This record gives sequence, structure tokens and C-alpha cells, in this order.
Amino acid sequence: MSDIRKHYFLDEYCIIASERSKRPSDLVSEKTERVAISNCVFCSGNEDKTPPATAVYKNGDVLEDKQDVHVTGWDVRCIPNLFPAVSPTPAKIEPSDWQIDAGFGYHEVIVETPVHGRTISDLSDHELALLMRAYKDRVVHYQSQTGIEYVSLFKNWGERAGASLEHIHSQLIALPLLPPLLRREQDVIQDIKKCPYCDIVEKEENSERFVYENADVLAFTPHFSIAPFEVWILPKQHIDHFANCADEVMRSLGDAIRFVISRYDTILDSPSYNYMFYQIADGSYHLNVRIQPVLATRAGFEKNTDIYINTVSPEDAASYLREQ
Ligand SMILES: [Zn+2]
Ligand SMILES: [Zn+2]
Repeated sequence: MSDIRKHYFLDEYCIIASERSKRPSDLVSEKTERVAISNCVFCSGNEDKTPPATAVYKNGDVLEDKQDVHVTGWDVRCIPNLFPAVSPTPAKIEPSDWQIDAGFGYHEVIVETPVHGRTISDLSDHELALLMRAYKDRVVHYQSQTGIEYVSLFKNWGERAGASLEHIHSQLIALPLLPPLLRREQDVIQDIKKCPYCDIVEKEENSERFVYENADVLAFTPHFSIAPFEVWILPKQHIDHFANCADEVMRSLGDAIRFVISRYDTILDSPSYNYMFYQIADGSYHLNVRIQPVLATRAGFEKNTDIYINTVSPEDAASYLREQ
């Protein structure tokens, strides 16, 4: 049996086609061999191989916009991307019909630990709290820059998820526009004048899709899941953006992310994955995190229709993720 499911509040659809009832082990993909790179540019000791850091977290302090590339002994290090998608000083362009602007923006890499080969599951509470603090600081910093409308914060882990380097890191791309996906959500939310995410928290907290919770956040496999084992994490209280998110809620978000990744590592044999933060500082949006292991390919049907076929029902996925 398959069923067509609608997004909680957008006019979007996915198809849950779990008739072949795949077990997690059927989805484990062949691993590309990971080779530790002795001269990894993100490793401690190789600070001179990257552009100067934009922020360095060290012993509980943050050193910002230091031009000294040799700050060593750091815990989290933020650097401009070597191959940026956008630039704060884009080259001047001749206007054309289809171009809206030069490629203005900021593209930063957040190196999550000085130690090569560690994963999110390996981070201690203290390290995780520091990483979440860095996430918040950097997003709030770029959100306040002139001309910036949206800050995309995401992590790619593993080759299939688009990570070119093994050393764990996240990326931040600050854009001069609000992406259509976020704008569509914002339009609906402002129209219905009630936060649909608050409603989702209430309903999914006691549903068969429940995965994990702590004092501040809920993790669940969404009824509308576009990828096998997709998980959403929502603050239980209404919070629109990191700028308005208390430190303990940030820590709780990190705790839930680590729980989900650890469960992926166990039941799906450390798959490639992406996680993404969605937020708008407009009072009405509800901050959320979406985590998707990369177990399927976006193929012809998906590209043709923007409707995803998911071969694992979110109800089954949640039962595997909960079991310990
Ligand atoms: Zn490294
Ligand atoms: Zn809400």
C-alpha cells in the first residue's frame, strides 16, 4: 500500500511507498573508504592553510575578526569558505533581464572540533553547547549585516550528502533574499494567524512518529516525510529565530540533534546526512531543524513533479529510531 500525503500546511505532497517494507539494513549503502588526510586544512596546526578566521572559540572566549591566522588551541573555528558561493565584494556586473543582482553574500565554514575523525555523536555536552553557541553567534551576526535577508545554516556529512572533507564542519551562507521555500511558509503562517508548528508539536508529541524529547524540544519523523528516516526537531515553546532562543534551548537542540545522529549511526551504519536550520525573525515563524540521511536519490519523477517517493513510512522509521 502506498499513500499520498500532504504537507502539514503547504500545498506540497509526498508518496509513502513502503509496500516493500524496507528494514534499515536494506538501506545501508556501500561505504566509500575514508582516508584520513594528513594535511587536512581544518585540522589543528594547519591554521595557516586557510583564510584568516572570522571567529575563534577558545577556552570559553570568542576572538572575532582576528587577522592572525595562527590562533591555535581553539575549540571551534569559523573561516571564510575557500570557494564561496557568494561574496561580500562581488564583481560588478552588466545588468541583464534574468539576473537580479551580483552574487552578494557571505559564505562561512564552522569547523566543529580541532580533532580529525570525530563525529557529532562523539561530542560531549560541553563541546555541543559551544558549537550551538557558535551557530547562534554567527547566524545572528550575519543576519544583522546590511543587505542580508536570510542566513542558511546547514551541515553536510559524508560524500553522498555533499561533504568534500571528512573533518566535521557546518556551513553558513548569508543571502540578500528570503528563499521561496521560507517565503511560502511565511505567507501561509501569516495568513492563518496561528502557528502551525505549535500545533504540530502538540499533535506529534503523543503520536506514533515520536522519536525523542528533552525539556525544550521535540524530535519526530514528520507525517509528511520526503526522505527515509527524515526527522524534524521543534522547540516546544514558540521561538522564531536563534536571536530569540535562550542558551538552554540551543543546548537542547544540540542534544536532540546528537541523539538522532547517534541513532542513524547505529541503525543505518553511519550514513551520509544533511541537517538544516529554518528560521525567520518575524515573530510568527517557528524555528525548526530538519535532518535527512541520504539513502535515496532525487531521480526523474522527483525532478519532474517535486513530489518525493519515500520507501520507509515515518511511523516505521520512528519505531526504529526510538528503540535502544
Ligand atoms: Zn582534519
Ligand atoms: Zn509556534
